[in-house]
Amino acid sequence: MDKKYIYFFSKEKSEGNAKMKSILGGKGANLAEMAKIGIPVPPGFTISAEVCQLYLKTKKIPSDLKQEIEKNLSRLEKVAGKKFGDENDPLLVSVRSGAAVSMPGMMDTILNLGLNSKSVEGLVKKSNDEKFAWDAFRRLIQMFGDVVMGIAHSKFEKELEKIKEKAGVKQDIELEAEDLKELVKNYKALYKKETGKEFPESPKEQLFLAIEAVFKSWNNPRAIKYREINNIEGLLGTATNVQAMVFGNLGLNSATGVAFTRNPATGENQFYGEYLPQAQGEDVVAGIRTPRQLTKKLSQKWAKENKVSEAERKNKYPSLEESMPEVFKDLMETRKKLERHYQDMQDIEFTIQEGKLYLLQTRTGKRTGKAAVKIAVDLVKEKIIDKKTALLRVEPEKINELLHKRIDPTAKISIIGKGLPASPGAAVGRIVFEPKEAVEFSEKGEPVILVRQETSPDDIGGMSVSQGILTAVGGMTSHASVVARGMGKSCVVGCSDLSIDYKNKICSFRNKQFKEGDFITIDGDRGLVAEGKVDLVFPELSGEFLTLLKWADQIKKLSVRANAETPKDAQKARELGAEGIGLARTEHMFFGKDRVIKIQKMILAKNEKEREKAINSLLPLQKNDFLELFKIMKGLPVTVRLLDPPLHEFLPKTEEETKELAEKLGITIDEIKKKMDDLKEVNPMLGHRGCRLGITYPEITKMQVRAIIEAAIELNKQKIKVMPEIMVPLVSIKSELEDQMQVIKSEANESMKRLGKKIKYKIGTMIETPRACAISDKIAENAEFFSFGTNDLTQMTFGFSRDDIAKFLPFYIEKNIVKNDPFMVLDQEGVGKLMKMAISQGREVKPNLKIGICGEHGGEPSSVEFCHKIGLDYVSCSPYRVPIARLAAAQAVIKNKK
Ligand code: PEP
Ligand code: MG
Repeated sequence: MDKKYIYFFSKEKSEGNAKMKSILGGKGANLAEMAKIGIPVPPGFTISAEVCQLYLKTKKIPSDLKQEIEKNLSRLEKVAGKKFGDENDPLLVSVRSGAAVSMPGMMDTILNLGLNSKSVEGLVKKSNDEKFAWDAFRRLIQMFGDVVMGIAHSKFEKELEKIKEKAGVKQDIELEAEDLKELVKNYKALYKKETGKEFPESPKEQLFLAIEAVFKSWNNPRAIKYREINNIEGLLGTATNVQAMVFGNLGLNSATGVAFTRNPATGENQFYGEYLPQAQGEDVVAGIRTPRQLTKKLSQKWAKENKVSEAERKNKYPSLEESMPEVFKDLMETRKKLERHYQDMQDIEFTIQEGKLYLLQTRTGKRTGKAAVKIAVDLVKEKIIDKKTALLRVEPEKINELLHKRIDPTAKISIIGKGLPASPGAAVGRIVFEPKEAVEFSEKGEPVILVRQETSPDDIGGMSVSQGILTAVGGMTSHASVVARGMGKSCVVGCSDLSIDYKNKICSFRNKQFKEGDFITIDGDRGLVAEGKVDLVFPELSGEFLTLLKWADQIKKLSVRANAETPKDAQKARELGAEGIGLARTEHMFFGKDRVIKIQKMILAKNEKEREKAINSLLPLQKNDFLELFKIMKGLPVTVRLLDPPLHEFLPKTEEETKELAEKLGITIDEIKKKMDDLKEVNPMLGHRGCRLGITYPEITKMQVRAIIEAAIELNKQKIKVMPEIMVPLVSIKSELEDQMQVIKSEANESMKRLGKKIKYKIGTMIETPRACAISDKIAENAEFFSFGTNDLTQMTFGFSRDDIAKFLPFYIEKNIVKNDPFMVLDQEGVGKLMKMAISQGREVKPNLKIGICGEHGGEPSSVEFCHKIGLDYVSCSPYRVPIARLAAAQAVIKNKK
């Protein structure tokens, strides 16, 4: 064969490495890498994913490849010092799938291959454990029958139950060797009955059939679905790992476990994992026996939380550190070596066979946002990575989790249950027991906590709409924990105080009953469940978080501003590092109850005089708003946008509100209704709004400008610096901006004259219509800055209504017509092209024209990167997105330098 398709790995020689994930899969590439750097892994070989691709086309393994597999098998026999099918000390292998992208549990695995009626005796001799050997054999027939021949799992389970009943035992492990021998006989009969063939005695036949089954499992329905849901595309198929078996269930000195090299929830530098003595891999995650902690410290913590006495802990649940101190030392060494080598936190699987440690897998460990930040910063401090690498290690969206709510420390809480703190943050919601109900409640705008015995992949939809997840069973590696952490949702698992009655939709915590719809609060940091709605607060930002963002600020080129108009939001924006306000939507300042009436008066005014009176009554309020905003922003730029929405948005929506307004204003309901009819538009978003309002009612522009300038002068007199930027919305014609600029300038001059003080301010415009992009050079002749309003620009470029896209977007995404919601993720191809055109034409006229973005995209990481690439000066987003944008802006610099 010309091309290399099989890569051998052993401590003597390793042909692959960690970079070869695309052909060796994540598991295979890392097994090769571990063998290379001297980590103990059982020897084996990996068949490239290219072979899987070939097999799926031709439906057979080419004969020269079969020879290649046999050659590698001989090599494996040599390094393992055992022979396949041997009557004294047989080599047994596992055959495992492993694609370039992890698809946990989606494809097939077969263990103990190589056992037959002769080699099972060999295993008895070697292990000196008849029960162990026959159990291994029956597991092989069961797995092989199920995975390779498609015999229903339940049929094997039935046989197993029959034998247990006959032997009068409850658990599998209570079966004796004789029972297991009988079970093997019955399994073989079942195999023959179902397939019409004998269970293959030939180990090589077993091996080839198992390899083919792994190839085929690439296209089993659940794997296809998984790839579809997770947008996994462009992979060749699965690689196949054939590896010498090691046994964690071979006597007292054997065990198996899983671990994270650091705490995946908090990021603390503590070895974090679980193990089970005398067990095989799957037993730890299956949750049948209570797993034990690796370190003594965490074991003691676990005992305390579970009310286990120290004596009982030592006796029944000792840590690995205590029960196998030598192996624990090896494991700690391995942990250090792996972290230094991979320069990141690892998620490992290991087996201890008769006192010897073997690593079966390592991969980059999944972690919470909090842990991601802490680990990245700590690894820089430990001199393992540099700052730029640290900045790339944290997914910007994950920062959301750091901004999660916590239970108010001053709040009185009544704790009704305790469990494991699986995913941080606190959540308040109504109890629901079914994912479907979670969706129904949340569609009605009700927050929910999904309360389940345990969760399964079917529950994903319900989990994603819940505020938090609570389960009665499960550990830190259970489905609920892993998924909630991934989603950044608060989660408590293993709450033994909880029992659920699904049928009657009730549950109880320590005898206190709750029904569907009742409120509870969960605390994913401490693993607590509290009764009712508890007050939550936003967290203090951790030292590591601030450090990472400081590094981001040192690198990024884009400024990050916030969209904010209330003092509270502006304050929050400053706290989160905003460098100014990029959009203060003045209409939001008018929505308060005492204020909307004034604007309603203005709209309903019967003549010019009345209108002016109403507008003037708004002036002091508006001025006060700006005073506060400018004060908080302390000399940072504040972009104030003139009134934008169609006026009917301020009028009453219901009969009752209309009646109330008529009474307040002393006019008739009909008068209001008539005005509403006058203002009615077929396409309000394309209607009388934006600068079109200021052009038809210049008195509105005048009042707003006067409020801005007066507030700025007042603060200026108090020696407080102010940088106002007045922004005109929805411009698409050069003269629209000229008209408004003339009004703005004359009003500003008048105010400055009246108050006897001159101040600096800028006038700019939103670029949010396609025409504005097309004639941006003309607009730039007047505008002092541009700010892309990509919400409207997206709406008008696609012709998609901002408010109605939900009706068809899910179909578009499902059919792959669009990849994302274009109102969330900037459409670089179309809208982005218009932006590029607007920038280059604008800067041709004014080379230093300041340009930013204030549409929702300003806080979305991939859009921020695009904004960096096309040369914007700043992005502006909602306050809580500011840290995300800061990190994304830094990543944009690093990625685009590479
Ligand atoms: C925009 O259109 O992108 C924008 C920021 O303005 P608004 O969302 O207020 O229309
Ligand atoms: Mg807009």
